[in-house]
Amino acid sequence: MSRTGKSTTEFRSGVVAIVGPPNAGKSTLLNRLLGQKIAIVSPRPQTTRNRILGIVNGENYQMIMLDTPGLHKAREIMNREMVRIAIDSLAEADVVLFLADGVRAGSDRNEQRLCEYAGYLGPVRCPVLLAVNKIDLLGEEQLLPLLDRLAAVHPFAEIIPISALTGQGVETLVAELAARLPPGPVYYPDDIPTDASERFIVAELIREKIFLLTREEIPYSTAVLIDSFKEPAGKKPAVIHATILVERGSQKGIILGKGGAMLGRIRQEAAADISQLLGCRVQLRLWVKVKKKWTTNPQVLKELGL
Ligand code: GDP
Ligand code: MG
Repeated sequence: MSRTGKSTTEFRSGVVAIVGPPNAGKSTLLNRLLGQKIAIVSPRPQTTRNRILGIVNGENYQMIMLDTPGLHKAREIMNREMVRIAIDSLAEADVVLFLADGVRAGSDRNEQRLCEYAGYLGPVRCPVLLAVNKIDLLGEEQLLPLLDRLAAVHPFAEIIPISALTGQGVETLVAELAARLPPGPVYYPDDIPTDASERFIVAELIREKIFLLTREEIPYSTAVLIDSFKEPAGKKPAVIHATILVERGSQKGIILGKGGAMLGRIRQEAAADISQLLGCRVQLRLWVKVKKKWTTNPQVLKELGL
């Protein structure tokens, strides 16, 4: 990647922070840009708990994208930490991408909430782009007035309608983001999609299955800790042992399911994703352990990177 000689376009690089309300599609967008699943996705708010870094390479740019937990009014200590992670990432950014859910933004109540979220953007000095997501679910007659109204929420540098799911508009978005990066070096080798460890992504993939397969408060009461991770050797599979923490005995029963059926499904679906991630066969063993009030236990939160 020569940046000398007759090259007319300057190489650009820097940090793009993806922020926005829970469930807007931030993690889905990051996975699409990376062409692989690094960030977990579910229909529930607050699926993402940590900051996930993904590196997107183009001919003339390198974007270091930060996927963040959703901005929301948080009371509990863990949720406050999650919002803090999102706000901190704003300070590191060269460009901020504010992602809104185009379907939900349509209602008055949600527009008002979007204004509240946009309040976090007040102190931001770098360009802020707005992407209005999920346009695969919107008709043009809904989209155009919505874009007008959202333009009034904050002085966005650009407003771009996209669908992270189908990819519509995503190329335009990437070009607009890249154009606003400062001139800079190649920070990461171009074959490294993320700085997250395999261990972290493995724990996240298990957590995603819990988010997708269980209901109500269960996903929010669980955490996944990797106890051991043995690399594959020759024909032997990778061997991974993990513990699912829950807050109460009744929750343990739900995660286990009748005769262990629920845990079996979580294990099976997670193992399939992990096998794809690692590119090898995987033997996954899961345990469920009750740890009262782990969401307020500083030691556990530290272990989870919060
Ligand atoms: P996050 O909380 O902002 O990270 O949102 P997620 O990426 O976890 O997505 C939340 C939900 O919205 C998931 O069920 C996604 O499949 C869904 N979703 C994300 N982007 C799109 C999109 O462009 N169109 C549609 N129809 N659904 C989407
Ligand atoms: Mg997310």
